[in-house]
Amino acid sequence: MKKAVFIDRDGTLNVDVGYPSRYDQLDVFPQSFEAVKKLNQEGLLVVVVTNQSGVGRGLLTEDDLKDIHARLNASFIRRDARLDAIYYCPHYVLSEDPRYRKECDCRKPKAGLARQAADDLGIDLANSYMIGDKTEDVLFGINVGAVPVLVLTGCGQESLTKLREQNLAPAYVAPGILEATDWILHRERRHIP
Ligand SMILES: [Mg+2]
Ligand SMILES: [Zn+2]
Repeated sequence: MKKAVFIDRDGTLNVDVGYPSRYDQLDVFPQSFEAVKKLNQEGLLVVVVTNQSGVGRGLLTEDDLKDIHARLNASFIRRDARLDAIYYCPHYVLSEDPRYRKECDCRKPKAGLARQAADDLGIDLANSYMIGDKTEDVLFGINVGAVPVLVLTGCGQESLTKLREQNLAPAYVAPGILEATDWILHRERRHIP
């Protein structure tokens, strides 16, 4: 069983611009490459988990999304870093397309994407982490039994306020993905396995 760091996409790995339909609309934070490389070197799986209801809303096709993710993967490879897998939820309950119109179990904060990844890759969820900028990401981390880390990029500030109102606390709040990664690596190195 392997440990994984689940990472949200928009607002965490790249700037959140709404519903991008092409890779050139995706502005990856420069620190993301270094963060992912560090996680790779530590032997932690890097698994992107992203809600992409834009597919169900008809704003981009699933092929557009796959193209974005192929290019995203390539941009990390060019910088000697590796995203081990990307899992997405394309669903939208009000979708006009019956393929995407459902009350699914893979939209964060539900645990479906983590379960899929755990089955495919042999992940020990209880010893894994989740990094994200929304309350849904923190709740997803809690729901799958992983350690939730909130980043203050994207919607992070608003999320922190919302979480406090609900008396929920992430294990750590980091300015961005690189600081979140450094905290995880520090915790891994001093922790009893
Ligand atoms: Mg996000
Ligand atoms: Zn879904």
